[in-house]
Amino acid sequence: MNFEQIKALDQEHIMHTYKRFDVCFDHGKGATIWDVNQKEYVDFSSGIGVNSLGFCDPDWLKAVEGQMERYTHMSNLFYSQINAETADLLCQKTGYDQVFFANSGAEANEGAIKLARKYSFDKNNGKVKGDILTLKNSFHGRTITTLMATGQDVFHDYFFPFTPGFDYAKANDLEDVKAHITENTCAIMLETIQGEGGVVPLEEEFVQGVAALCKERGILLIADEVQTGLGRTGKVLSVEHYGVKPDIVSLAKGLGGGLPCGAVVTTKEIGEHFGPSSHGSTFGGNLAAMAGAKVVLEKLTDNLLQNVCEKGAYLKAEIEKLPYVTGVSGKGLMLGISLDGLSSADVVAQGLKTGVVMLTAKEKVRLLPPLTITYQELDKGVAALKQALILAKEASK
Ligand SMILES: *Cc1c(COP(=O)(O)O)cnc(C)c1O
Repeated sequence: MNFEQIKALDQEHIMHTYKRFDVCFDHGKGATIWDVNQKEYVDFSSGIGVNSLGFCDPDWLKAVEGQMERYTHMSNLFYSQINAETADLLCQKTGYDQVFFANSGAEANEGAIKLARKYSFDKNNGKVKGDILTLKNSFHGRTITTLMATGQDVFHDYFFPFTPGFDYAKANDLEDVKAHITENTCAIMLETIQGEGGVVPLEEEFVQGVAALCKERGILLIADEVQTGLGRTGKVLSVEHYGVKPDIVSLAKGLGGGLPCGAVVTTKEIGEHFGPSSHGSTFGGNLAAMAGAKVVLEKLTDNLLQNVCEKGAYLKAEIEKLPYVTGVSGKGLMLGISLDGLSSADVVAQGLKTGVVMLTAKEKVRLLPPLTITYQELDKGVAALKQALILAKEASK
C-alpha cells in the first residue's frame, strides 16, 4: 500500500479521535525513524515519551522476543518469574516496596486513586473520605475518573456524569491547596512537571510544602510520574529533584520501552491495603511488556541518568541559540520551547517537513527524545528544528 491508500483505509475505519499528520512510519533505529517513502526523521518525541531506549534496542528486542517465544500471556492468577523480577527491579530503582502492574498511564492513575481511597476507607473504619485534590493545569488521563482528576475545564465536557470527589487547587500556591483541603480529602495528586499542561515544573518550595502538609494532615501524596518518571528528567523519579517521597507513584509511558505497561508503586504499609480481589487487570503485567520493562529498568543506571542530564543541558543550550525561541523549560530530556510569535503546532508540522518529530504542549513545542539519543542525532534534530522555525516564520508572514 502507498501512503494515500493507507490514509484512506484509516480514515474510513478508525474513529477520528486523533488529528493525524500526513506521515506513516515504516521502521526505526535508535532515535531515527523512516517513513513509508523512506524519508528520514530524528525522533524528538519517543512516541510521547514511550520509547525510552529508542527504536529496536537490541537487548530489549532480544528479551521481548525471547519471552514471546516461551509464552506471552496466561493471567494474573498465576506466578511469573518475569513479573516478580521486574517488580523487584522497579522497587530497587524507585525505593518503594510494592507494585501493581497496569497497561497505561490512565490505568495506573486509576489504580493509584483506588488505592488511596481503599487505604483511607480502611484507616477510617469504613467512613468514606475519598476526595482527591489535584492541581489546575494538570493532566492525568482519559478515563472518566482520570479526566475528572485532570484540572483543566476543557476536559470536563460531554461525558457526564463524571466521577465525584475531585477538586483542584492552584499550582505553586500552598495557601490555595490548604484552602481546598477538607476533612474528606484522602490524597493530593500532582505531576512535578506538568507535561501536557506545557512542560511547567512546579516550584521546589511548593512541592515540599505540599509533602509536609500531607504528612501533617494524614493525607496521601500521589505523584503522577507517568511522563516524568524513569529517567526522563535525569532522575529515576522526578520527585527526587524536589527531595520528597510521595506515598504512591504512578508510572507508564517510558516503562515498557515501547510496549504498553503501567505501574503503581508504593510502600508495603499502603500496598497491603490492596488485598485479593480489591483491584485487577487482565492484561496488567503482560509478560512481553514485563520483559521490555525489565530491560528498561536494567539500563536505568547512574551512568544513563548522568547522560540524560548532560544531553538535556546540551539540547537546551543549543535550542536557546535558535531564532524565535524565547525560553526552554523542563528538566533532563523533557523540554518545552517557548516561541516568539509562532504557533507550536505550526513548528511541529514544519518539523515533519525538515525531518524532526516533535510534540506540542499547549503553546510550547515539547521534546521527549529517547533517553539513549546520540549527540549526532541531537545535532541533526536541532538543525531540522532550526529550519522548521524559519519555515514556520515565513509561513506566518
Ligand atoms: C500521558 C499521561 C497520562 C495518561 O497516560 P495514558 O497511557 O495515555 O493513559 C497520565 N498522566 C500523565 C502525567 C501523562 O503524561
